[in-house]
Amino acid sequence: MTPRNKYLLHRVYYLLRHEQHAFIFKSLRTDEGWCDKEFICINIKGNDTPIRTLIHECLHYLYDWSESMVVSKEKSIYHQLTIDQIKYLYKLLVDLM
Ligand SMILES: [Zn+2]
Repeated sequence: MTPRNKYLLHRVYYLLRHEQHAFIFKSLRTDEGWCDKEFICINIKGNDTPIRTLIHECLHYLYDWSESMVVSKEKSIYHQLTIDQIKYLYKLLVDLM
């Protein structure tokens, strides 16, 4: 993983561990998730890639980037994740529920 992506991933870990109040889990009809800068909502029904959604919405929460920038960073981080990093993200996700 590139140092930049590692840094971004650690910011996501930090959010999951320290900003639990910001996370909402729902079933959404059309979206995988959303972020309004106060809350991060993750669709956990019919979502095949909740970790990917999680990274995406956390990046929206952390940065005022354009949608295309967020998608690009999310893809880049997601494809570089190790199995252990994916396991840890799932563990943090489950701990929030
Ligand atoms: Zn987005």
